[in-house]
Amino acid sequence: MTDRPLSLDGKTALVTGGSGGIGRAIVDTLLRHGATTGSMDLPGCPPAPGAIDISLDLADPDATLHAVDAFAEEQERLDFVVHCAGITADSVVWKMPVEEWRRVLSVNLDSAFFLLQAAVPHLRKTGGGSVVLISSINGERGKFGQSNYAASKAGLNALARSTAKELGRFGVRVNAVAPGLVRTAMTESLPGEVLRTALDETALGRMAEPEDVAGSVLFLCSDLARHVTGQVLRVDGGQLTA
Ligand code: NAP
Repeated sequence: MTDRPLSLDGKTALVTGGSGGIGRAIVDTLLRHGATTGSMDLPGCPPAPGAIDISLDLADPDATLHAVDAFAEEQERLDFVVHCAGITADSVVWKMPVEEWRRVLSVNLDSAFFLLQAAVPHLRKTGGGSVVLISSINGERGKFGQSNYAASKAGLNALARSTAKELGRFGVRVNAVAPGLVRTAMTESLPGEVLRTALDETALGRMAEPEDVAGSVLFLCSDLARHVTGQVLRVDGGQLTA
């Protein structure tokens, strides 16, 4: 263990959805701890100050491959990949248009597969890196009206556990972070009753801030987590307890 295990000096990171609520907090945190950080977002979404702007649609595998290769080659290494981009399109399963099923699975889950395929050769070359997939407690417990979203997040958990086994021999760790309710644009439009129920479910009686999720990502990227892989870390104030 190094003297400053939270230092990411000299390391590089790619964060998808880095201009969103949670993504921006993750980018800020990685930058503050010394990592050169690229923020992968849809065109027209300005990244956090200090981040390298990478515009693309993550549902496009060729664009993802090109963007990851270009970043890793320019920086001459790739240490961390954080997949935070995600969308919802809620409705009960019998009313869900097939395009909404496909769109959510594509942006949330297919994109993680494309990202890993593109990033693994660089992570293997650099060695000792960390991948963090932002999942959700709804991927474990399911959620009324979110069959597409919950299925995509359950898929991310399985992807993290499987690729942790595949990449361990190269010193690369893969974990998922499963937040409960977090204060962002994604949640601010929820009806008051839904927010109250979610708050009542927590042990801590508070809604997470994006920085709470960013802190767990920093931990999983850092040397403090050097023996942690294949895990789904809930950051939910005790909202889901097994
Ligand atoms: P957010 O503010 O809406 O951020 C999502 C980000 O993903 C946005 O920057 C969005 O860009 C980007 N994005 C969407 N589709 C994309 C695509 N095809 N290509 C590239 N980027 C794309 O949401 P958030 O609340 O911060 O959520 C971040 C992650 O945390 C998501 O994976 C979400 O499922 C997860 N999560 C959130 C909560 C919560 O309570 N907020 C709870 C559990 C898990 P645009 O702004 O252009 O759409």
